[in-house]
Amino acid sequence: MTRRALVFPFAVAVLLAAGAVALRGNWPWTRLSDVPTARPILVTSPFRIVRDTLHGGESVATLLHRQGINGLDLTALARVLRLDPTRIRAGLVFSVRRDATTDAATHVEFRPNPDERMRFVRTSAGDWRAESIPVRWTTDTIRCSLEIAADQPNLYAALDHGVCDGAVGPDERQRLAWQLSDINAYTVDFSRDLQAGDRVVAVLERLVSEDGEVRLGSVLATSEAVGRRTFKTFGYPDAKGGLAYYDQKGAAVKRSFLISPVDFRYITSGFSSARFHPILGFWRKHEGVDYAAGAGSPVKAAGEGTVTVAGWSGGYGKLVEIRHRSGIITRYGHLHDIPAWLHPGAHVAQSEVIGHVGMTGLATGPHLHYEFRVDGKARDPRSIKSEPGAPLATSKLADFERHRALLAELLARGAAPTPITE
Ligand SMILES: [Zn+2]
Repeated sequence: MTRRALVFPFAVAVLLAAGAVALRGNWPWTRLSDVPTARPILVTSPFRIVRDTLHGGESVATLLHRQGINGLDLTALARVLRLDPTRIRAGLVFSVRRDATTDAATHVEFRPNPDERMRFVRTSAGDWRAESIPVRWTTDTIRCSLEIAADQPNLYAALDHGVCDGAVGPDERQRLAWQLSDINAYTVDFSRDLQAGDRVVAVLERLVSEDGEVRLGSVLATSEAVGRRTFKTFGYPDAKGGLAYYDQKGAAVKRSFLISPVDFRYITSGFSSARFHPILGFWRKHEGVDYAAGAGSPVKAAGEGTVTVAGWSGGYGKLVEIRHRSGIITRYGHLHDIPAWLHPGAHVAQSEVIGHVGMTGLATGPHLHYEFRVDGKARDPRSIKSEPGAPLATSKLADFERHRALLAELLARGAAPTPITE
């Protein structure tokens, strides 16, 4: 081994150790890390880092070739890493570490998924070794307080202008809007109910990676003040390792009917204030709710029941009608298509997809016409006094109450981001 070959690894080791000490205390995951990562904060560096992005239609081999790396047998390494190099997505950034003196690439690093870092290291023998290093994420709890504004009365705008305890990126804000609408799917129709002055508060987990990326975890609790109605929901661990949501008394928020048969994520934004009129003169009185959603958006059965109509029905176009308990029927009109299995007499479960949004029949654009009828009369599904949700098991109530009290406090006034789940 040459003298230089001995000096460089030693210098690298010293600098890495210095870097680890400098970061200690500020960044706990660095302290925990058994494989410290060299960071460009080092003053004198025996290497430089070059970043390169995988372009569309380009293979990893092409990128490596561009970086002057030829001896790296990806196929052999892929087996070790359980990774198919042909399925790596464009846009992925590769960091190549080059020796400052020889300019030879010694390390290649990239992140195939949020939880993993892949590193190829050139050995002293000149071949390459692959390692997979878990990316550390720390979890804290944040509170977001949202108020619906008069000029943009929708949840997305409220999230953009809302106050959160910490930074939450645009994609994550959209995901949060969808999570909030899923949790409240039985109580609030976020596409139609929100008005200026309404308030939504959420307590949720936020994950921060050692590289500073932010993503949202579970929503732990919410409170909504919508019109004259107020709700609170509290997440509590279910048997499958997820969270189920309960009200203050420990009754499930899940009810017999979804408030909207189209997920909020598919609703065309800006619809909340505009009424969507069918071709005038056909219906003397409009007896349903129109949801403007992209053509092809899934339509779900609002509740479990038996199909009574599945097919063409005049101005409704392709229509599904479901009979539920207590004299309730629901109708879904203008569908683009209805699944073949869905015929009169078929049983459908709540939230089962019964077709896709279209504009069949008398419709001027893609939308779902939804009717909720009780004993033959069109009614607002919100006006129905629904049966209370299933209660938590008695044996769990005391634990739920402790959990709920902590979350209620966080909902009310927030706290410095503190881990409350381990
Ligand atoms: Zn309609």
